Amino acid sequence: SDTVERHEFGAEVGRLLDLVVHALYSDREIFLRELVANAADAIDRRRFESLTEAVTPPPADAAIRLLPDKAARTLTLTDAGIGMAKEELTKNLGTIARSGTRAFTQSLADAKPGERPSLIGQFGVGFYSAFMVADRVEVTSRRAGTEEAWTWASAGQGDFTLAPATREEPGTTIVLHMKADAEEFLEPLRLQTIIRKWADHITVPITIAEDGKDTPANEGTALWRKAKSEVTEEQYADFYRHIGHFFDKPWATLHWRAEGTTEFAALLFIPGMKPFQAVEGERESRVRLHVRRMFITDEAHLLPNWLRFVHGVVDTEDLPLNVSREMLQSTPALARIRKAVTNRMISELKTRAKDAESYAGFFENFGPILKEGVWEDSEHRKEIAPLLRFKSSTQEGWTSLPDYVARMKEGQAAIYILVGDDPDALVKSSQLEGFAARGVEVLLLSDQVDSFWPERLDSFEDKPIRSITQGSVDLSAIAPAVAEGEPPADTAKLLPLLKAALEAEVSEVRTTDRLVDSAVVLAAPEHGPDLQMQRLLRRAGR
Ligand code: ADP
Ligand code: MG
Repeated sequence: SDTVERHEFGAEVGRLLDLVVHALYSDREIFLRELVANAADAIDRRRFESLTEAVTPPPADAAIRLLPDKAARTLTLTDAGIGMAKEELTKNLGTIARSGTRAFTQSLADAKPGERPSLIGQFGVGFYSAFMVADRVEVTSRRAGTEEAWTWASAGQGDFTLAPATREEPGTTIVLHMKADAEEFLEPLRLQTIIRKWADHITVPITIAEDGKDTPANEGTALWRKAKSEVTEEQYADFYRHIGHFFDKPWATLHWRAEGTTEFAALLFIPGMKPFQAVEGERESRVRLHVRRMFITDEAHLLPNWLRFVHGVVDTEDLPLNVSREMLQSTPALARIRKAVTNRMISELKTRAKDAESYAGFFENFGPILKEGVWEDSEHRKEIAPLLRFKSSTQEGWTSLPDYVARMKEGQAAIYILVGDDPDALVKSSQLEGFAARGVEVLLLSDQVDSFWPERLDSFEDKPIRSITQGSVDLSAIAPAVAEGEPPADTAKLLPLLKAALEAEVSEVRTTDRLVDSAVVLAAPEHGPDLQMQRLLRRAGR
């Protein structure tokens, strides 16, 4: 008809489709997880919007319905979620909002086959996975709060169409015209198995229609509400993989109930792997807030940013079901929950830090994020500091601030650090010579955030933290392990000559006991940014 509009996919989408369809062939079944997860999100979102906007809540029996039809070779998924208006269909299903495609392509190329399924989820390209099994996809949707419905349709090759449609109620219906080699996904039993495997913890009921009858496909139990003794390790791991798109086992599982002034159940995980966007991606904690089992939002900031690698659920009775956005900002109940959950995470990390080997694995994944806490969280700075681990000029592997302090030399005034970009270059730096000669340990820091937090922490156990590239570090109180020659007598004459020659470049030229083999080294002024900070500022164009 002449009301059908034809649109080209964005270039990124074209490439992505190609990639998803070809690279993930053996993991095709995850298309169902992705579509069901979208439907569950849409139902949650409708419920949440109905609290504050002119949107009716989803019906009490809102389910995600799967209808396989072998004769027509279609699989239809229906939800009573928030739905999509015309522009949303175009934007959400026709472009990629996040600029993750290139990163995704790269990660996919690097990933082992077993890791691939979770990559799709992590990069939020889930919808397109439908084209792994379908050669044509039709999405008919009506946005809650509006009357219009539209059908988006595409064969996943270059373009899609939009045409007016009708839909009695808000929500979305997706019809997958299955590829000839994907008929297995029209078998109710096969669908059931996939749901059990990938989507069992979705609390919205999922049903599969067979012979005109809807069979429940997921258990939908709120795992976090069960007693610890009733949950197996395998169930925890499944849930972890489900909520965070992980494919490994959690490094830590924390499951507890708080009773008393604050009542909540929490099930939190520290991942065993570094998600691809943990450090570079968004900075906010996405721990999910539920009220009496019902999902409310993942934007309640239940944990500080420096614990954003923690995934999981907090479910409370202390808030009303119709909690408003304003309330999420200001209610004391939520502040109490935040505090309790944060403290619990800190004490868990403290305990786990005692197992040095296991903790090293954790720190390699998330250390840079923890360090952000020293920079920005004045309340917890002092508690985070001993949880940090460092490479050192004198130690193998990782060490900590308390261990460093215990090893400090007689007469050593400060905790010394050297900050740079490249860990290998740091080990060989001439800045270390004088310290090595005296057997004084220097911590070697090479994360971006290392240019920022030491200044904020300032000291540890009353020992000042000093960058060795800054000012005139005084090592004279510490006897060198190897005897140093006296500086040649005429050095005093050389200094003014050098200073005159380098006048435009440096503000001062002086002798130092920081060097042994090298003739000169660059130092930053006593006050102000150290060398690494100066490099960063230069790069930022300051
Ligand atoms: P993600 O879920 O990570 O955002 P997807 O590719 O799975 O990425 O989905 C893209 C977007 O399309 C979603 O963010 C959502 O806005 C929209 N969407 C997909 N499926 C539905 C649905 N069933 N109901 C409403 N919106 C949907
Ligand atoms: Mg999705």
